[in-house]
Amino acid sequence: MVVAPPASVLAELARQLVRALGPDAVLQAPEDVLVYEYDYGLDRHPPELVVLPRGRDEVVAAVTIAARFGMPIIPRGAGTGISGGAVPIQGGLVIALSRMNRILEIDADNLTALVEPGVVNLELSKAAEPYGLYFAPDPSSQKASTIGGNIANNAGGPHCLAYGVTANHVLGVEVVLADGTVLWCESSARERPGYDLSGLVVGAEGTVGVVTRALVRLLRKPEAVQTFLAIFNSVDDASAATSGIIAAGIIPAALEMMDQLTMRSVEAAFHAGYPADAGAVLLIELEGLAEELEALAPQVEAICAANGARELRVARTEHERALLWAGRKGAASAMGRVAPNYYLHDAVVARSKLPRVMRRVLEIGAKYSLPVANVFHAGDGNLHPMLLFDVKEPGVLERVLRCGREMLRMCVEEGGAISGEHGIGVEKRDFMSWYFSDADLGVQARVRRAFDPQERMNPAKVIPMPTSCGDTFARPRAAVVPTSADLWV
Ligand SMILES: Cc1cc2nc3c(=O)[nH]c(=O)nc-3n(C[C@H](O)[C@H](O)[C@H](O)COP(=O)(O)OP(=O)(O)OC[C@H]3O[C@@H](n4cnc5c(N)ncnc54)[C@H](O)[C@@H]3O)c2cc1C
Repeated sequence: MVVAPPASVLAELARQLVRALGPDAVLQAPEDVLVYEYDYGLDRHPPELVVLPRGRDEVVAAVTIAARFGMPIIPRGAGTGISGGAVPIQGGLVIALSRMNRILEIDADNLTALVEPGVVNLELSKAAEPYGLYFAPDPSSQKASTIGGNIANNAGGPHCLAYGVTANHVLGVEVVLADGTVLWCESSARERPGYDLSGLVVGAEGTVGVVTRALVRLLRKPEAVQTFLAIFNSVDDASAATSGIIAAGIIPAALEMMDQLTMRSVEAAFHAGYPADAGAVLLIELEGLAEELEALAPQVEAICAANGARELRVARTEHERALLWAGRKGAASAMGRVAPNYYLHDAVVARSKLPRVMRRVLEIGAKYSLPVANVFHAGDGNLHPMLLFDVKEPGVLERVLRCGREMLRMCVEEGGAISGEHGIGVEKRDFMSWYFSDADLGVQARVRRAFDPQERMNPAKVIPMPTSCGDTFARPRAAVVPTSADLWV
């Protein structure tokens, strides 16, 4: 059990932070720190203190002061991570990076941008647009989530099918370690010597250090884009078509699936033109040279037809295309139209397994009497079942957690992984041993300790806690227990 520091110690810590960062950069009143207890998932816990640094040196100051007090540090971007990664599950000092939101340089000749971690994902692409460039990783949360959070969670997104996830677009990162040391880590993708420490930071979920700057790759916007809506009578047919498109060697820029329940809520919210009577749709985007698309489009149409598509529509104008994407990217927020709460899961399987795995997802949902809405990156085999419920129903949360756990377990048994992009956080920490051996986890724990021997940087996240002094890791517990009963998810 973790014990909160005595009030006198906290008061002294706060005093030192205020002296270093100024009073407007330190939050300590319970009503001020409360909003930092949550990241859109089920786990909640408030921090003792929050700092809002304006630059790298203020991060160093905050980290160094926290080190003197042995205080846990939890880096935070926009708090959209869902898996509890930014939740201070043992209390501690949250370092919220939202004020460090400057785009320091766009180098159009070398196709790179140097940014602070609090830059919102979509703002970077907007800033790069006048140069004909954009930042490819585009999580559906891109209007809110930050580049620092994208790096820490190795975020994916609809357009990561063709261009790769965040790891493929990070060329270097500046990191502040738990003792205040500042490192510049280069990616080996940039053809630089030495260990690829940037590769360690990407996807480490804030357990290595606080990212304070990042050099990222920008891509040139494609000459032509075509967006199709393939309409199917069932999730099964749409899954088979997804598998068929990839097996034919066609890699669309995006290949997203929505089922009927999702479309109904999306239509009610966005009026984007999704057919509410269809079993499922695929949103297929092709990008490249105009001639290339002319050749690819009929092939995609033939594969969809062979797998039972009843229609293939094409977005005729930029407005139609934008509406379809607004519906897709706003699908999670539209869910409020069908249920007061949802629990969004994240797992990944081979695309060829999609038809079978999607059938199993729906069966497991039915077994627990929970409606399941599906909207996901089908081309990547990255599932996002949303379990719909009303938290006011007694006992429902336990059922939701057991159902989600069984879905995850099934994906692992099918050869998949427990997260495609939302990270492990605290939510899936104890399921890591389904996927990694004790030896794998032991090495990961040692790597982490090499950067942070006292494990103060985002503690109790990602790597399961050892059950004894040996390198044996905790087996999954029955469920993640939320710390608050009055959930809003
Ligand atoms: C509606 C919705 C749709 C989503 N769609 C997608 C999607 O399509 N693809 C996808 O990949 N994810 C998606 N997500 C999940 C989430 O938005 C991403 O994981 C995103 O990258 C998190 O960014 P954030 O700024 O909110 O990070 P936070 O939630 O604040 O933090 C996430 C993790 O990063 C760490 N962290 C944050 N900033 C830093 C930093 N500067 N240095 C070190 N560590 C840091 C935190 O400690 C935490 O472990 C979605 C979430 C929602 C709510």
